[in-house]
Amino acid sequence: MRGRFRIFDTHTHVGTALHSGRTYSADQLLRDMDRSGIDRSLVIPFPVVADPREAHDEIGRAVLAHPDRLSGVVCLNPFLPRADFLNEVRRAVEIYGFRAIKLQPQYQPLNPLWRTSDFFFETALEQRLPIICHTGSGIPYSLPALMMDPARRYPDLKIVLAHCGGGLLVGEAIVAADFCPNIYLELSSLMPNHVLEVLHRVPSSRLMIGSDLAENLEVEIGKIEGLAVSDEDKRQILWETGARLLL
Ligand SMILES: [Zn+2]
Repeated sequence: MRGRFRIFDTHTHVGTALHSGRTYSADQLLRDMDRSGIDRSLVIPFPVVADPREAHDEIGRAVLAHPDRLSGVVCLNPFLPRADFLNEVRRAVEIYGFRAIKLQPQYQPLNPLWRTSDFFFETALEQRLPIICHTGSGIPYSLPALMMDPARRYPDLKIVLAHCGGGLLVGEAIVAADFCPNIYLELSSLMPNHVLEVLHRVPSSRLMIGSDLAENLEVEIGKIEGLAVSDEDKRQILWETGARLLL
């Protein structure tokens, strides 16, 4: 709780990142959550890890120890042998109750337009997992518009565009959400003026906050708290949308 609002951070990472060298533990996350008044966090493995099973286990143990504060997300290379991919998704859901599957197109070049990628979307549907797709850096596969294709072909699938196109592509993310009612936008890395632009076209019931990294927490929450919009819009972005979709 932070002032009048409950806070659900729908984009955090725990583990050890091979690409950046960053290490961040669940205990550090919980301390940072307490310091910033974050009620819940959705915890995602870093995009490049030594062993995705171990990354899921590290997050899963924290989720089981703190079910009131943390939920987990599956993230693994979609080009693993198909059976290995499916088994690991199912394992993370069955043992740890993970609530979404993350696609990192800047490190996992899955083209949503190719039929060879359909298994990814069908796995998410089968496991009732929303897809969280990184957008922005890492084009072409991280272009927000590419997710419009699976969103229309799988209307029961929910897709969150993480970083909402990352500033440069915010307009494309807005169009994607405008045309596809099952596309949601996570607002990390946008400037406050971008968030207002999004709010003019996409209802707050499809918008949510994320911090991505601990040092962004105060800025990401503060930029929503400080907007000249209704308390209801802030409540949706800070808690309700994420809670409806991901809890
Ligand atoms: Zn991230």
